[in-house]
Amino acid sequence: MTLKEKKERKEEIITTKNMFQVLEEYGVVVKRRMCRCMFHHEKNPSMKVFKDGVQCFVCGRNWNVFDVVMQLTGCDFNTAFDLLGGNDKPSWKSYVAAASAKRKRLQAKQVVTHQTKMFMEQRAIVLALKDIIDSETPYSDLWCECQNRVVYEEYKLDQMISEVSR
Ligand SMILES: [Zn+2]
Repeated sequence: MTLKEKKERKEEIITTKNMFQVLEEYGVVVKRRMCRCMFHHEKNPSMKVFKDGVQCFVCGRNWNVFDVVMQLTGCDFNTAFDLLGGNDKPSWKSYVAAASAKRKRLQAKQVVTHQTKMFMEQRAIVLALKDIIDSETPYSDLWCECQNRVVYEEYKLDQMISEVSR
């Protein structure tokens, strides 16, 4: 598929895909044409749903079906393109990505305790440090800094886990 063809296909999908159906597929609850914004965390729905897009009154931006799928699954444009039927038949990889994203979201709905939130934040810190360590040159200042830091942060994470499981 050429870039031009892909652009045309993208426009076609935006106009033909039904946003309500897509949101339902990904487990987003729509009531009276409103849902909770997936781009900022909120308790009360402030996102208006249209057949070909959504608009959040807080973010103030319009999002098409590609933006929504990318945000909900955490995937890139090409995966979203695949998932939305841009290629004739979506690849199994895209299905797996969507399924695991869905599972994660369902889990996220169940666990909303303060403790869990703290735990997830701490885990994000550890993972971010490890990302930096992986991408930096070994023994550079930043690399050493992160190596030292990650030991402490992982210790804190372990403490949290033992508190939760106690
Ligand atoms: Zn928003």
